[in-house]
Formats: sequence, C-alpha cells, structure tokens
Amino acid sequence: MNNLPASFFPRALLLLSIIFVYASCAAAKSAEATEYLMGTRVFIRVAPCGRDAQADIQEIIQEIRRFDAAASAHRENSFPARLARDGEANFTNEEEKSILLPMLREAFAFARASGGAFDPFIGKLSKLWGFSSLAMRAEPPRADEIAQALAASGHQKLLRLDEDGMAVARHTELDLGAIAKGEMLDRAAARLYAWGYRRALLNFGGDVYVIGDRIDAEGEPWRIAVQHPRKAQAYLGVARIQDGAMATSADDERFFIHEGKRWHHILNPFTGLPASEAVSASVIGPRAALADALATALFVLGADRGLALLAQYPGYHALFVFMSNDILQERMSPGFADAAGWKAAE
Ligand code: ADP
Ligand code: MG
Repeated sequence: MNNLPASFFPRALLLLSIIFVYASCAAAKSAEATEYLMGTRVFIRVAPCGRDAQADIQEIIQEIRRFDAAASAHRENSFPARLARDGEANFTNEEEKSILLPMLREAFAFARASGGAFDPFIGKLSKLWGFSSLAMRAEPPRADEIAQALAASGHQKLLRLDEDGMAVARHTELDLGAIAKGEMLDRAAARLYAWGYRRALLNFGGDVYVIGDRIDAEGEPWRIAVQHPRKAQAYLGVARIQDGAMATSADDERFFIHEGKRWHHILNPFTGLPASEAVSASVIGPRAALADALATALFVLGADRGLALLAQYPGYHALFVFMSNDILQERMSPGFADAAGWKAAE
C-alpha cells in the first residue's frame, strides 16, 4: 500500500445507505459520479432538484478539469509550471485569473497568518520528496538536497501578486496541493447552491463538503467518519454535519517507510522534513478552502500551537491525533465535539 498514492484510499468513509430517497426538493433517486481528478478521487452525489442532475454534475467535473489544468504544478504549461520556469507568470485569460487569483490571495494571507507553517512555496521540497509522483522514493533525500530546496521555499519569496499574475524569487516553486481540493469543493458547492440543490455530498480525496440533510434521511445531518490513522478499516469517530466542510491531513495518506521510520507528505517548512507534531489533523468549518489549509497548518504546528492559530478563525474546529510515549492521543479544540456532533468510535 505504501507504493500507491494513498489518496486513492478515501480518508473519510461515508456511512450512508443510498438508493431511493424522499428529498424535500423532489422525491427522486440520487445522482452521482466518481472521477479521478486533481490526483485524487472525486465523488459527487446530489438529490435532483428539478434540473438535469447528471448534466450539472458533469459541468462541475469539467470545471474541476479546467481548474486542475490551471493550478496543478505537475501539468505542463499550468500557471505554477510557467512560474517555475520563468520566475514570473501572468494570467493568460479571465478564467485562469478567476480560478487562481482568489485562491492565491487566500493561500498567501493564510501562509502569513500561520507564521509560515502553511507554505504555498513548498514546491521544490515537495518535488524533492516525490510524494506526488507515482514512483515513491525508497529513502529520504540527502541533507544537502533538502537544504537547497528549503532555501527556495517560504512565503517571503513572493515578489508580486496582483491582478496580472505573480513573480517569485529565483528557484521558488508554487504548490497549491494543501488548499486546491478545498477551494474546488467551495466552488462546486457554490454552484450547487446557486442551481437550487438542497442536499448533496462532495468528497474530493477525503476532504468533504455537505449540503443540507442526508439524501436518504430527511432532517438528519450527513455522517462523516474520520479514518483511524493507524488501523485500516477503523475510524476515530463520526462527525455529523449539515452545511459545511471537513478536511483532514494525515501521515498515512502518502508515505514510505525507510529503516522503520515513516516519511510522509506533509512537510515542515522550517526543517524541510515531514512534520512530526501530529499524526492527523481534521478541521470542520463553513469553507472547505480554509478547512483544508488549516488542517495542513495544524498538522505542522501540532496541538498546542495549532489551537492558538485556530482560535483566530471563528466557526472552525479541530481534532488532533498525535503520538505521545508511543501511544496515540487525541485532542479536540473546545468547540469541536459540539460543532461536529462528534460521536467517538467505541
Ligand atoms: P492531502 O492533499 O493529502 O489531503 P494536505 O491537504 O495536507 O493533504 O496537503 C498536502 C500537500 O500539500 C502535499 O502533498 C504537498 O503538495 C503540499 N504541502 C506539504 N506540506 C505543506 C505545507 N507545510 N504547507 C503547504 N503545503 C504543503
Ligand atoms: Mg490541506
């Protein structure tokens, strides 16, 4: 399993029964689609609402494809690829700008707010560690390679970000992997709300956005199980959410084991090594982009410093799992259990 990009294994298992539904909007079957996009599994399920639900889902999927083409560092000629090549990239058209500019602004504002724990300029480092390629490394990079990639990272390397595009310091590379799924979830949810959908579930690689009640149970919130970070087929507990997002960053998503040690894909931008303060961090809140970015930052910061950062974001709550004396421990932010309707697994 450690040779596969692990986001093929959804983090949040959705506990639900499907099929016939009695939606408040229209009594109908649910419509759904699964695709591999943005390097992960994208799942969309909606209760039809007087529209062609399958066509609407396909429109969202097309939008994700365009988003990925513009935002992925791994696609030729994408914005991050042009930026890496030239140190500068301008938006080539209005659509590219409308996709990227709000996300870039949020990413850099949050990078500063997180004191650099969230770093959109982690690109050189994440390429060096190689977690996004299909062929996983067998051992960690050398210290001098890490030092070199680290020197090219850090949000302070931003020289310009404006309506035209952006410019960066030499060798610096953009990686939006820790916010892009959340951003796309918010865009997809906004479309569904605007089209009048009242019940839907969006699961993009384990980051989830839900609209309204569960499709199969009127008046019931969606149930989102958080995967146990060390036991396959087990979960930590179940969150019950009605309109909002849940994002998880965990060290068992993409990793390799070398000499008994786990090396995973969430990097500490201060050391250039995989972050070691947490095993998993889940965040719930109204917007998926912020929940996604927060989950990554909280993972890097660990529970103590992470909770201090989280306190600046009303409406966002977190569950941390970390290792202490070789034992997995959990810690919740003060509002998490209530806001998530949390039910711990027995
Ligand atoms: P996932 O994408 O697996 O759900 P995350 O949201 O935590 O998990 O994003 C991890 C990805 O973000 C990594 O694969 C890498 O591309 C990038 N990344 C790793 N560490 C950081 C960091 N400290 N800040 C910002 N992005 C990061
Ligand atoms: Mg994230």
